[in-house]
Amino acid sequence: MKLVLFGPPGAGKGTFSGQIKKILPDIPHISTGDIFRENLKKQTELGLKAKKYMDAGELVPDEVVIDMVRDRLSKDDVKQHGFLLDGFPRTIEQTKALDEITSIDALILLELDREIIKKRILGRFSCPECGEIYNKYTLPPKDAIGEDKWKCDKCGAGIEFAQRSDDTEEALEKRLDVYEKNAEPVIAHYKSKNLIRTVDSTDTLKMSEEEIKSAIGYKR
Ligand code: ADP
Ligand code: ZN
Repeated sequence: MKLVLFGPPGAGKGTFSGQIKKILPDIPHISTGDIFRENLKKQTELGLKAKKYMDAGELVPDEVVIDMVRDRLSKDDVKQHGFLLDGFPRTIEQTKALDEITSIDALILLELDREIIKKRILGRFSCPECGEIYNKYTLPPKDAIGEDKWKCDKCGAGIEFAQRSDDTEEALEKRLDVYEKNAEPVIAHYKSKNLIRTVDSTDTLKMSEEEIKSAIGYKR
């Protein structure tokens, strides 16, 4: 299958990719964000080109992303198993470019209420001792020992909630506004082709394999 996974930050694209992988184990999961981060780590030419945009939280220029995706989609694994594109297309130019490269079976649109997104992203923290991940609003440790203080369920260490400095409410609102502005024409494009499949992503982990299959339009 040739799928595009689409949705706001915090919608759980990573989680849903994992669930799709259980049904389609061989499908290449192609995340443009991951590819950029890998290239940044290895200090490749592509990584250096992308760095300043990523650091500023801006989109990498279309031609850079489009060339990279075109190259990736020409590989043998894609010819054999299709793809699960994650993080691309993000703009109308990227959408048109993808149309020229290939046709997709569906765009899976993960939908989530803005207030829930904010809780998910702004509430997350982890145990400094063992790394266990929690959420102040949706998944706090069981044993509260004070205001915003708990004992870690896993290792028993004391944990205090602290907002990550790059996760302020203001910065998040801005990211969500940017997402919505870019998303609108992309969604309209695929809607006109009847290729949108909407998934309520409040609780995708509760979805059965059958529900995931029907959500992505997998037959057989
Ligand atoms: P986010 O952290 O916003 O969920 P990703 O992990 O998907 O984003 O990508 C990290 C960064 O890589 C983005 O902020 C952006 O600079 C760049 N990037 C990823 N995909 C694209 C794309 N399709 N177009 C432009 N830039 C992209
Ligand atoms: Zn712990």
